[in-house]
Amino acid sequence: MIKEMKIIKYTTLKECFFAFSGLGTIGQLDKTVRFVGIDGSNKEYNIGALKWINNPNINCWGWARFDTKTIHIWISPDCDTKELIGCIAHEAAHLRRPKFKDTQKEEQKALNTELDAKFAYESTMEIMNND
Ligand SMILES: [Zn+2]
Repeated sequence: MIKEMKIIKYTTLKECFFAFSGLGTIGQLDKTVRFVGIDGSNKEYNIGALKWINNPNINCWGWARFDTKTIHIWISPDCDTKELIGCIAHEAAHLRRPKFKDTQKEEQKALNTELDAKFAYESTMEIMNND
């Protein structure tokens, strides 16, 4: 782990989300926040907060806070190594600078890092198992 970053784990998605949503109610966030990413079946998702929290379609989710260099993460018992690596890499990318002012560009940066991390994991497993 990169030394200056910390990880805080939550037992439930709700807890993790409420920590994230400290500035507003879920109802307010539902109107303004979209959740985008790649689910466990490698499909892109882009949904409102309420729909998402009731059916996240993912086994881990996190958010990152730059001033404390902290990744906040919820991990379901069904989460596999590849999904968790992708999630941590995604949030770590949000702690990297430069940060794009355009939120879609910033999200794309994190998504690319997530995909690279998953590719690195799969490649590593394949290489290690073939030796
Ligand atoms: Zn992100």
